[in-house]
Amino acid sequence: MATSTTTPANTVTNWFGNVVSHPAVIVDAHSVDDIIAVLKNPAKYPAPVRAVGSNHSTAPCGTADGGTLIRMKMNQILNINPGGNPPTITAQADCTHLQMAKALQAQKLQFYVNTEIGSLSAGSASCAGTKDASFPGEYGQVGSYVIGVKMVLPSGELLEVTEAENPALMQLVRSSYGLFGVIYEVTYQVKALTPMHVHHTTYSLADFLKALPDFQALGYSIMYYMFPFVDKITVEFRKYNPTATGDPAHFPWVLRNQLWGTTGPKAGHDIEQNFSVPAIRYGIIDSFNAFWRSQLENVVVGDNTLPADQIIDYPPVSNDSRYTFSLFAFPEAEFPAAITDFYKFCNDYYKQKGYRSNLLYVGYRIAQDQKALLSYSWDGPVLTLDPVSTANPGWEDFLVAYNQWCSDRNGLPLLNQTPDLTPAILQKAYGSRLTQLNEARKQYDPGDRLLNDYFRVLLSI
Ligand SMILES: Cc1cc2nc3c(=O)[nH]c(=O)nc-3n(C[C@H](O)[C@H](O)[C@H](O)COP(=O)(O)OP(=O)(O)OC[C@H]3O[C@@H](n4cnc5c(N)ncnc54)[C@H](O)[C@@H]3O)c2cc1C
Repeated sequence: MATSTTTPANTVTNWFGNVVSHPAVIVDAHSVDDIIAVLKNPAKYPAPVRAVGSNHSTAPCGTADGGTLIRMKMNQILNINPGGNPPTITAQADCTHLQMAKALQAQKLQFYVNTEIGSLSAGSASCAGTKDASFPGEYGQVGSYVIGVKMVLPSGELLEVTEAENPALMQLVRSSYGLFGVIYEVTYQVKALTPMHVHHTTYSLADFLKALPDFQALGYSIMYYMFPFVDKITVEFRKYNPTATGDPAHFPWVLRNQLWGTTGPKAGHDIEQNFSVPAIRYGIIDSFNAFWRSQLENVVVGDNTLPADQIIDYPPVSNDSRYTFSLFAFPEAEFPAAITDFYKFCNDYYKQKGYRSNLLYVGYRIAQDQKALLSYSWDGPVLTLDPVSTANPGWEDFLVAYNQWCSDRNGLPLLNQTPDLTPAILQKAYGSRLTQLNEARKQYDPGDRLLNDYFRVLLSI
């Protein structure tokens, strides 16, 4: 049953609180009929109509100013098929990644891509960008393993799209950001639960760059924590370890999740509040980061850990532990130069403008992937350079400079995870693929019912 609110003063923010939207109407969708009712009744439910899941995006892709915001409330797992070829899970669009990963684990199954964010909704995963470090031979974008969706089109008609019957349309849907229709059901290809090895090593940047070519040959997925102000980088190495014996160790990921999801950002927030002199503030932050590195190296280690244990259960309403971030991906061949320049860029920016992040910077290696039209690793493997912050004063200006810096070095952004994008930056990154997406969008939504200002500007090619 739909519950709609029509107070003119509706204010909705993303999870972090820095993307604000003022829809005229908010609808909580508990059924397909609730979505159809919105799309078939433009007089009552004005455009733009945007659906959101957990609303964690760091960019305004889910905003519905003056229009209708559909908050997806359909969160049931509909089917898990361990004996399928491939095994699958089918869930309603507001099921979260953590909820599904736990249900899969109970049946000795797992996702291919286990993002650190547990709040990622199935609807978003199937039509928006994601990232996690790729295992050898696998993708690092969740949607690449989505093999079917059901959606309500702007006309109110229903459409089912599957990889088996229409791979070309699935490729478009995976980058559709809700611009083709509102997704209400998602099917993922999953696989047998496999024990996973993890360990961390800290390098100087020069030593990291020397060792980087070996990591792939050794069969590791790599994610990294960057510390440009002390010339260090800590690499998270993961590898499936099917022959592991004994009981799985949970504590390594419990500690990682506590540091990354709660203690680290809360420390950044509190240090920011209590120490106004930059040299003292950042001295304390650097010491805290040294402690963080030592925990990663010495405790977040194990030969038999569970993939789902990496997924963080973020609180539904954010608190003082919240953080935000941005992302650009760089072609693998250009990455050594990019990260070297990035360390210098962060240091120069701090010297010149007095701003640096009060947390750290992270990145992921993601395999080549053409499963989504706007895949950022379409042309080959990429590695990302992602600043993370509690949005301390200066963050917004830093992001504008960072965006241009990244674009100048052929960086590729994500429409839901890179704030402050401009049409020029997006056009440089995706070129004719953007035009292709926009042409397909017009076929499904000729009246622009689902097009908000964010996409109207960015797709105005
Ligand atoms: C603390 C934090 C940690 C994060 N960690 C990661 C991480 O490890 N990996 C990663 O990839 N990302 C991460 N993110 C980013 C986040 O996962 C992505 O932005 C993702 O889109 C969020 O899912 P969501 O359900 O909140 O999507 P939303 O923000 O609700 O929606 C994203 C987009 O999808 C559209 N959409 C959502 N549901 C539907 C639907 N049912 N039908 C049609 N369109 C729909 C929306 O309109 C919007 O355009 C993190 C974000 C935060 C704040």
